[in-house]
Amino acid sequence: MDKINGFGALGLDDTLVRAVQAAGYEQPTAVQAQALPAALQGRDLMVSSATGSGKTAAYVLPALTMVLADRAAAVAARQTAQAAAEPAPPPRNDVKGAFGRHDRRNDRRPGPRPQPTGPRVLVLAPTRELALQVTKAFIDHGRFVPGLRVASIVGGVPYAAQLRALAGPLDVLVATPGRLMDHMASGRAVLARVGLLVLDEADRMLDMGFIDDIRHIAEALPAERQTLMTSATFAGSVGALAQTLLRSPQRVEVASHTEAHADIEQRLHWADDFAHKNALLDHILTERSIEQAVVFTSTQRDADWLADRLGEMGHSVAALHGGMPQGRRNRVLQGLRERRLRVLVATDVAARGIDVPTISHVINFGLPMKEEDYVHRIGRTGRAGRAGLAVTLAERRDAGMVHRIQRFTTQRIPPATIAGLEPRRPEPPPRAERAAAGRPGKPFGARPGAGAKPAGRGGFGRPAMRARG
Ligand code: AMP
Repeated sequence: MDKINGFGALGLDDTLVRAVQAAGYEQPTAVQAQALPAALQGRDLMVSSATGSGKTAAYVLPALTMVLADRAAAVAARQTAQAAAEPAPPPRNDVKGAFGRHDRRNDRRPGPRPQPTGPRVLVLAPTRELALQVTKAFIDHGRFVPGLRVASIVGGVPYAAQLRALAGPLDVLVATPGRLMDHMASGRAVLARVGLLVLDEADRMLDMGFIDDIRHIAEALPAERQTLMTSATFAGSVGALAQTLLRSPQRVEVASHTEAHADIEQRLHWADDFAHKNALLDHILTERSIEQAVVFTSTQRDADWLADRLGEMGHSVAALHGGMPQGRRNRVLQGLRERRLRVLVATDVAARGIDVPTISHVINFGLPMKEEDYVHRIGRTGRAGRAGLAVTLAERRDAGMVHRIQRFTTQRIPPATIAGLEPRRPEPPPRAERAAAGRPGKPFGARPGAGAKPAGRGGFGRPAMRARG
């Protein structure tokens, strides 16, 4: 891996090397170094890597390579056709030569204009935010690909623009499964030309109940295709799905959920009650080191309530959750990117796909419902090599989830206190450790190279839990 020097050495087309250089990427990340050569050879892949590891480019670049190969084949076919046909080639040969056989159900307009040919690359993503993020990655990395046509098909936005996009020729379609199914049902989405299917965050899509949709979509695609899957885990139903959709896949596993998150310092503050938790949050938000913070709540109502409360205190803050119309969500995300917002109060689903490198803090005000969401949450910070701080505020009734998170990540979240705001009651007993007695397992304290600096008074970097008064 260390022999690979830059993206050019991976065999990427110069068009793409220039684009990643323009994006400031100098070296492939670990997941890119492993996934790119295999994907470029046409292999199916199962990729598990932590959020923020560069997994998007690991499939976007091979996908664009396929589009470029199409372009080259189209030029060659056109030249052959021109050489063969004496006076002038029939106008439609151009399109057929370029794209091969395609479904002409929507072929309403006569004449030489390009017909809907459907995308060559189809990416399925669990949420609108992630889909739009991926679309942006295609546009960024494909900036030097001549005439690249990328469309996104996501729920919560009007159909008209999507129908227009689907009616024209397309290279890449990025979609959430539900809305794509709508367009398939009405016959507008033509998928007969797809040569590469990407399932991004497949575990998440299954969690959201998209399994039947994914199977239905996959069945509508040519069997002769390449398939790439990313997922935090390939256990259980995700693994079963991979078995049916992938052909002798290569596993790429660079950063599992047990990874140390070396760029992210984690802290755990125990709160006596809700008022104490609010006081802790208010104190943390006054820290000058905060460039931008995402505060997570468990419910949409909590997100609205907390955003209102923080707004009244004078913070530049907004809520982001799945109950908001897409237009408003986009404006909030734009405000975050343009740094008009310092604090975002978000729920889990809405926050996936947020990729803003200036997020310096993630604060868990309400704990996630699932332990893997903790990993996704803290991954909103520490992006692109920057340092981040992930603070969890837990009431005693959250102790069970705290333990489950620690077991899932096999890391202990170092407890911390703030002077003057110490909890009155002792830290909850380490139930998980008691429950796990007799079961083999890694100690939570084993974090090679994590480099977490405990905060507050006293040292909390040691694995042994201590009660504090
Ligand atoms: P991802 O894991 O795909 O969400 O990417 C996380 C962040 O890393 C994004 O901001 C990417 O633009 C950035 N990134 C991806 N690959 C590289 C690279 N090779 N060098 C520097 N930054 C990268």
